[in-house]
Amino acid sequence: AHLDAIDRLNPKLNAYITVVPEQDVLTAADAADARYAAGTARPMEGLPVGVKDLFCTKGIKTTAASKILANFIPPYESTVTARLLDAGSLFVGKTNLDEFAMGSANITSAYGAVLNPWQRKGDEATALVPGGSSGGSAAAVAAGLALAATGTDTGGSIRQPAAFCGIVGLKPTYGRCSRWGTIAYASSLDQAGPMTRTVADAGLMLEAMAGFDEKDSTCSNRPVPAFAQAVGKSIKGLRVGIPAEYRAPGLSPEISAMWEQGIAWLRDAGCEIVDVSLPHTKYGLATYYIIAPAECSSNLARYDGIRFGERKDAATLDGIYEATRAAGFGEEVRSRILMGTYVLSAGYYDAYYLKAQKVRTLIKRDFVEAFEKVDVLLTPTAPSAAFAQGENMADPVQMYLNDIFTVPASMAGVPALSVPVGLDSKGLPLGLQIIGRHFDEETVLSVGGALE
Ligand code: GLN
Repeated sequence: AHLDAIDRLNPKLNAYITVVPEQDVLTAADAADARYAAGTARPMEGLPVGVKDLFCTKGIKTTAASKILANFIPPYESTVTARLLDAGSLFVGKTNLDEFAMGSANITSAYGAVLNPWQRKGDEATALVPGGSSGGSAAAVAAGLALAATGTDTGGSIRQPAAFCGIVGLKPTYGRCSRWGTIAYASSLDQAGPMTRTVADAGLMLEAMAGFDEKDSTCSNRPVPAFAQAVGKSIKGLRVGIPAEYRAPGLSPEISAMWEQGIAWLRDAGCEIVDVSLPHTKYGLATYYIIAPAECSSNLARYDGIRFGERKDAATLDGIYEATRAAGFGEEVRSRILMGTYVLSAGYYDAYYLKAQKVRTLIKRDFVEAFEKVDVLLTPTAPSAAFAQGENMADPVQMYLNDIFTVPASMAGVPALSVPVGLDSKGLPLGLQIIGRHFDEETVLSVGGALE
């Protein structure tokens, strides 16, 4: 069914950059059948999974949606995808994304934009964005082109597209999943996570993806709990914080109403609702858009035409670098590299980068202090529902504002889940975000399960 959906819908949605040859999928499916028959099926045996094209997959082209990696076939498997394979999952393709995961609408991919499978009621002509950067994963799961998909989230790239496409997306605690073999954007923020149709599926998939890996020094050695079992647990007596600062101007009234509805549902389920304050929230976006480009400018220095991917020849080594990078990187990536090198440059480092690091500590402290009073926080995932292709394009700051509710949890490294909770008056899905304590994905999943 998923392969049929790929045949039928991928030409329109453009959710996959690379589709695994059908015969390979069917062979793997037969092997999965045999394991079910023999009673040796593993937790994700035979489940068709889409893999964001940012995870290196051995023998399968991995592009990061960039021209600079157009023909890169990794000779190794990322830790996360290796674990998913070990758990029995079956990869059906590599999903589209914003180039190097930089974006909020999946429009910067060198392989074309992704279409959101949802449409506004009575306005089927307007093409909507799926969100980004994991827009291909979100569209694939929403339209049945995969049962689940991997995403990565640096400042919201799992949660915001999940909200725009009406699916579940979980950014785990920083350090929960190994980053080894995942193409780096901003290393102090990047986290892999599951994008699924249900919260229970997200728990199951995270169980397979997570855990210590000696190849990533920031990967935690904490044991991996039975996440799937957290779903369905009673949430009675939990304290749910509502951060005042998220009642931001510009928040759509329909999202505000959905948030109130979510609060009411949790109160009815026996939670205690507590007003909290995260006073440094207003610096979140500005700080993020200094730190993330700074790290990206450093990480993307490796694409020099010598070690990876495409090369444009020139007479000198510097000439090769220049020609390769000018031809290989898209506009958004180039602008982020420029921003990053600027804030890291000797004359501006203290004023921008160092200052941003200090503010990041304050943002993190806000969360730690809030979690002394409450068990989780409930907020909207994004300030609007999916917007139209072409909207928010003229002004990059307008586009960056999409990340206003997702960036703070990334800066703090805490886990955050987006759950689809209803539709707006145009029939588009809306998501609410549940943010938890460091390494307490279980409580986040319990609350998410109660809201879905
Ligand atoms: N939209 C944010 C950015 O462009 C987040 C991207 C992400 O989480 N990978 O940086």
